[in-house]
Amino acid sequence: MKKISIIIPAYNEEESLPFLYERLDKLMNEIDTYEFEVLFVNDGSKDKTIQIIKELRQKDKRICYVDFSRNFGKEIAMLAGLDYAKGDSVIFMDADLQDPPELIPELIKYWEEGYDDVYARRKSREGESLLKKITSWGFYRTLQSMTKIEIQKDTGDFRLLDRRCVEALKEIRESQRYTKGLFSWIGYNKKEILFDREPRAAGQTKWNYGKLINLSIDGLT
Ligand code: UDP
Ligand code: MG
Repeated sequence: MKKISIIIPAYNEEESLPFLYERLDKLMNEIDTYEFEVLFVNDGSKDKTIQIIKELRQKDKRICYVDFSRNFGKEIAMLAGLDYAKGDSVIFMDADLQDPPELIPELIKYWEEGYDDVYARRKSREGESLLKKITSWGFYRTLQSMTKIEIQKDTGDFRLLDRRCVEALKEIRESQRYTKGLFSWIGYNKKEILFDREPRAAGQTKWNYGKLINLSIDGLT
């Protein structure tokens, strides 16, 4: 049976994790044609995130985790996820349910059709400020104007990657990462699917404009 690793970077997500587990568990039980592993990367959380992950692991052996010594940021957390994932494919997902797990069957369907990178593009972004929407819109277009490589617009990290992509991404060891750009850069067969981005299930966004500007600079440079 093929294995799929769901990689979830988590920083102070104690409030979201119970909701996330409930929805993921239901979905994984419905799909009995694959083996799943849920790989959390605890990115130096200061709340009970790691305790909750350990409790989940006690009752469900599909759960595993990497536990960081401090907060390194989501980009590095994603790399650690790639390093430790055992799946024939991986799915990146946020811990706050903004990326609906119910889309997973569609991601898998296109993977089975032979696509290596099935990425979910946002039709709408609920619960985000107008300023954030405008700045992200502008950023993706600025980035595209600076490179010949096709940039997938209005797309986050929510996607399924075949093992071939995982191996390619693992070779890029830079620490100032802009992973979304790397997904574009490595190439392979890409397939877009559309979804409505939901508001956070619980807790607060970990992003602020300082962090976003930093990430934008990493992306552009
Ligand atoms: N995250 C992380 N490290 C950080 C900041 C965020 O691992 O330093 C995780 C976070 O727990 C979530 C995902 O990255 O699973 C996206 O973060 P968030 O929802 O805060 O960002 P937004 O959706 O508002 O852009
Ligand atoms: Mg979020």
